[in-house]
Amino acid sequence: MRDWLQNVRLAISTIAAGMYVTLWTMAQSFRRKPFTQHFEYPEKPIPIRPRYRGFHRYDLTTCIGCDKCAKACPVDCIYIDKAKNPAGKGFVINGFKIDYTKCMFCSLCVDPCPVDCIFMGSTHDLSCFGRDGCVVDYATLPLDVAWGQATLNPTAVFESKKVALPVWVKPPDPPKPAPAPAATPAPTPDQPKA
Ligand code: SF4
Ligand code: SF4
Repeated sequence: MRDWLQNVRLAISTIAAGMYVTLWTMAQSFRRKPFTQHFEYPEKPIPIRPRYRGFHRYDLTTCIGCDKCAKACPVDCIYIDKAKNPAGKGFVINGFKIDYTKCMFCSLCVDPCPVDCIFMGSTHDLSCFGRDGCVVDYATLPLDVAWGQATLNPTAVFESKKVALPVWVKPPDPPKPAPAPAATPAPTPDQPKA
């Protein structure tokens, strides 16, 4: 009988403790504003941490096409289409695609870049209706969108799919300066002056 009463007491106290937590949480949810009232997403962006790793930022005008980022990528989701620069040194970049169906936002492609033209950005939403929309060609995105802090958006990606050529073409190298005329050697003391 005593055990039975103890079990009943334990059951009642356990249920009461559980119900207290439930009711307290329910009361709190009435007091605080819902998530959408805080941030009004997607009209107002959600604040993110400074070192957040979102969709990349990439500067086509600085990239030298060295392939180091693509080689460092553990899932091989960076595809660089480049050709020898016909008007000077280096390469011209015709395509710089990242497949976001494979990318895991590890940031390993950022560190090897010798010219700091690829970073993890702060955009975290890039919804699309098909897998093709997840493949972003940074060479056909407008430069300010590709390099912006948080301006990568589905509309810009969709529009970039209609662009056939890169949005920026490497200008030819400036002409080399003419060599300076050779200096006339000074006459030595034992040389007769003219
Ligand atoms: S973040 Fe990681 S997975 Fe994504 S492209 Fe860079 S190296 Fe590859
Ligand atoms: S490592 Fe940097 S410079 Fe080299 S291809 Fe990648 S983004 Fe371009």
